[in-house]
Order: sequence, then C-alpha cells, then structure tokens
Amino acid sequence: MKILVTGGAGYIGSHTIKKLGRQGHELLTIDNLSTGHRGAVLFGDFKKGDIRDPVFLRRVFSSFRPQALVHFAASVIVPESVENPLLYWDNNISAMITLLRAAVEHQVKMAVFSSSAAVYGEPEKIPVTEDHPRRPANPYGMTKLVGEGILADCDLAHGLKSVCLRYFNASGVDPEGELVEDREVETHLIPLVLKAAIAAREKKHRAKGRGHSGGKELLIFGNDYPTPDGTCVRDYIHVNDLAQAHILALEWLSREKRSGVFNVGNGRGYSVRQVIEVSRRVTGLPIPSRDVPRRPGDPAELVASSEKIRKVLGWKPEIPELEKIISSSWNYFSKQVAGSRKQVAGNQ
Ligand code: UDP
Repeated sequence: MKILVTGGAGYIGSHTIKKLGRQGHELLTIDNLSTGHRGAVLFGDFKKGDIRDPVFLRRVFSSFRPQALVHFAASVIVPESVENPLLYWDNNISAMITLLRAAVEHQVKMAVFSSSAAVYGEPEKIPVTEDHPRRPANPYGMTKLVGEGILADCDLAHGLKSVCLRYFNASGVDPEGELVEDREVETHLIPLVLKAAIAAREKKHRAKGRGHSGGKELLIFGNDYPTPDGTCVRDYIHVNDLAQAHILALEWLSREKRSGVFNVGNGRGYSVRQVIEVSRRVTGLPIPSRDVPRRPGDPAELVASSEKIRKVLGWKPEIPELEKIISSSWNYFSKQVAGSRKQVAGNQ
C-alpha cells in the first residue's frame, strides 16, 4: 500500500514506520522535524515540511498519490497544552483540517489517527471502554476529541474511513536498539525516572572519584489522588505494541471499509511510585524522588479496556510486562549521559 505518514520522525511514528517498512509498504514520511529526528525514519522517502502548509501538501499528495494516511504529527504534552492551549488548537486542529482537506481532494479513503486516552478525562469507571463519556481534562485531550469528530464528519461527507487509536501511555524503546526516545524537552515519567537513575549513577561515580556531588531527583506530582498509594495510575504500553495496532488498523480499513475507534492499552495500571519501584529493580540504582503538588490537567487513573481492539483487530501485546517495557527503555537510556538534555515540568 502507498502510505503517507505525518510525524513519522517522532517517537511512535518512527517505531510504526519500521514495522510498516518491514511489511513492504511504500512509505512517504512528512515531518517538520520540530521534535522528530530524520535519522529515525528507517524506511521509505522523507520530505521535510509542515502540514499547515497547503502548497507543500498539495505537492506531496499529487506526486505521491497515497492510498492511506497515518497521522501522527501533533503536539502531545499535557502540561504544555494547559499553559499554551492556542498552540495546541493550531498544531493539532488547524493543521489537521489543512491535511484532511488535501487528503479529501486527492481521494484518500483510509486514515489512521493518533488519538489519546486523554479524551476521557477523569474516568467514572476503570477499565475505560470506548463508549465511556468523553470529557477531556486538558486542552490536549480536547484537541484529540475534536480530531476524532472531524474524521467522523469526513467519513459521512467524503467516504474517508478512519481508525482512531486512543493511546494510553506509550513507553519503551525499540528492543533492537535502532530507534530513540529523545525529546528536546522531556516531561514523560519513565524517561525522567531513568534520567534520575543515570544522575544517581553518575553521582555515585563522582563521589567515588573526586568527592563531587549533584544530580537530579524525580518529582512525584501529587500524592493525594484517590488511588491506592495516592499517586496517579496509568496504563503503560510498549511503543512496538502501539505500532502494531496501526498495522492492524490499516489491514482492517482495507478489508472492512468502515470507521472505528479503539483503545490501545494493556489493561493494567501502575502508580507513579510503582513505576519508580520497578525502575529501581531494573536499573539497580536508588532513583531519588520527592513529592510535590499535583500537575494541572492530570486525571487520577487511566487504564484501558483493550477488549475491543483484541476482539475486532486481533491485537495482542507482545511486551505487556512493565518490567520489560522499562528494561527496553533502560537499554537505551543507560547509554545516554545524564544532563545532556533539558528537563522541564518541574523536574529541573
Ligand atoms: N509524573 C510525575 N513526575 C514526572 C513526570 C510525570 O509524577 O516528572 C506523573 C504525571 O503526573 C502522571 C504520570 O506521571 O500522573 C504519567 O505522566 P506522563 O507525562 O508520562 O504521561 P501522561 O499520563 O501525562 O500522558
């Protein structure tokens, strides 16, 4: 199949490209490289450009003539969306409208969209099924919900069939060691926990050598949530299992020619403290942490029901264990140097 991938140089995009490429699909990635890495696109062609640019898009669509669109390109950081909502409406909605206009003009009939568990907001019941009320708790989740709505309208009006994948917490890194999880500004829990582990390792090393100390601690955002240990609970899913959901979604779209919405999660929740605990075991390092106030926009608990995607798409995670997910990240992060990247969201 000829597939146009937006945001294919990013974390989930690049892992998906690797799987799609190995299946022999003809791929073109477009990415403005605002957060992605050109070197992470291991298969197909690449064009640098912005999906808000209709002239660029028209050129791409008319020369490549894709049969399907996989749309990753978006801003994805919850706290940033709370601070700068207009950036999110622009990057995630204005851009998507421009992209879909080009797709419809060029008769694209299939799309896979990166939606998010953030569309649910604070769930009424766990695990969350796809028909759970959608009440996003932050602007990021709101833009994803609106994105789903735009696609539903494009199906009715233009026959553009889509699968919206509601990602839970994407984590882990390519176990074959070819890809990266490398953000200029890191806000995600597992990378920050592992960076704190690296800082602890270097501190130990320095203390042995020159008596110099320093290093980062992991800030735990909120210890008063209505969860067993008071910290937020999330459903962490390996990025390769997430990537596989896109492959199955494309196969389903070609076969069934109808639209659908699916959660992609493991159906098991872990608290922030549990993630730190498992990471201590995986790394063998202390990982200093400190409790601080809640971060705005964080729901207490988000755990997927993955029954629908298992039943309808035949999806099954290959790396569901948190320990293995964190190990795959540690394989990558343990080779990085502490402090080589900026850390934000209070974790400086
Ligand atoms: N979190 C934390 N300290 C950090 C980063 C994240 O306590 O330095 C918490 C965050 O408040 C949330 C969970 O870890 O409850 C997962 O956050 P992440 O940003 O990784 O993903 P999100 O669930 O926001 O998409």
